[in-house]
Amino acid sequence: VSGHVPIGPGREFDLVRAMLHRWGDRAHGIGDDAAVLDVPPGEQLVVTTDVAVETVHFRRDWMSPQEIGYRTTAAALSDLAAMAATPRGLVLGLTIPRDWTSTLADFADGVGAAAADVSCPIVGGDVTSGHEIVVTVTAFGSTRAPLRRSNAEPGDTVYVTGALGGPATAVRALEQGRDPTPMHRERLVHPRPRIREALWLVARGAHAGIDISDGLSSELLHLAAASDVAIEIALERVPVLEGCAVADAVAGGEEYELLVTAPTAFDTTEFRAAFDLALTAIGAVASRGAPRVVATRDGNRVDLAPGYDHFSP
Ligand SMILES: [Mg+2]
Repeated sequence: VSGHVPIGPGREFDLVRAMLHRWGDRAHGIGDDAAVLDVPPGEQLVVTTDVAVETVHFRRDWMSPQEIGYRTTAAALSDLAAMAATPRGLVLGLTIPRDWTSTLADFADGVGAAAADVSCPIVGGDVTSGHEIVVTVTAFGSTRAPLRRSNAEPGDTVYVTGALGGPATAVRALEQGRDPTPMHRERLVHPRPRIREALWLVARGAHAGIDISDGLSSELLHLAAASDVAIEIALERVPVLEGCAVADAVAGGEEYELLVTAPTAFDTTEFRAAFDLALTAIGAVASRGAPRVVATRDGNRVDLAPGYDHFSP
């Protein structure tokens, strides 16, 4: 395996070796006390961390170990996309129950696939035992021009990538003991960090952005608050995935699509041709001050349902 320092004996290190074996050349330079990363001259380092806890973020009876690995890793990498950063490496902090050690290779396959999909090397980590599975992924990226959520300006158009509602629809089916449709399930278990899409959008003038982890309505409110602007959106324009309710498209979380604002009009046909993905204008930044989100449906004011909040009652 590529450029690793040899690892000494022990059960914990057997687990690390097992994962390294699955990752092959997707893991780089593992085995020293810390990883060393190169950042291209003129770029800034971008760091994000994401914690996924069994029963809070995923359930073992809903997803395979491979899917848990893919999803938790992709969720962390999505925050690099939201900053328009190119992935440079990730480290994996893992707590697993003893009965999961034989499953670790399958989980590692999911982590490796998500990392490989956006060309992000796995550069280190730590494994401990515990009562439930906790996956912490810390991802490092770099960029010349970070896409911040605080840069939206009056006059900007608000765009969203993809079609929304799939993950919430899949979770509801699972909660009710039904099988989600393959398309809805795929959106839940294999979210795609929109890294290349973010770079395309920034190259063409996007100057504010956020990824949709807590739901479109919540992320719009975050964007409005961070930029100190009022945002107006037309609900009839929100792209809803086939078979999903508008309410789930608006409030459902874990989409990992991008929400960006730009003073220019994007060529959405070119975007779709490049990424096989929709890019949809759903509204505009209306004014500075009094941060809020105003939603209409066919011209009539409607109240937005709030998205997911871990600490709401
Ligand atoms: Mg985010």
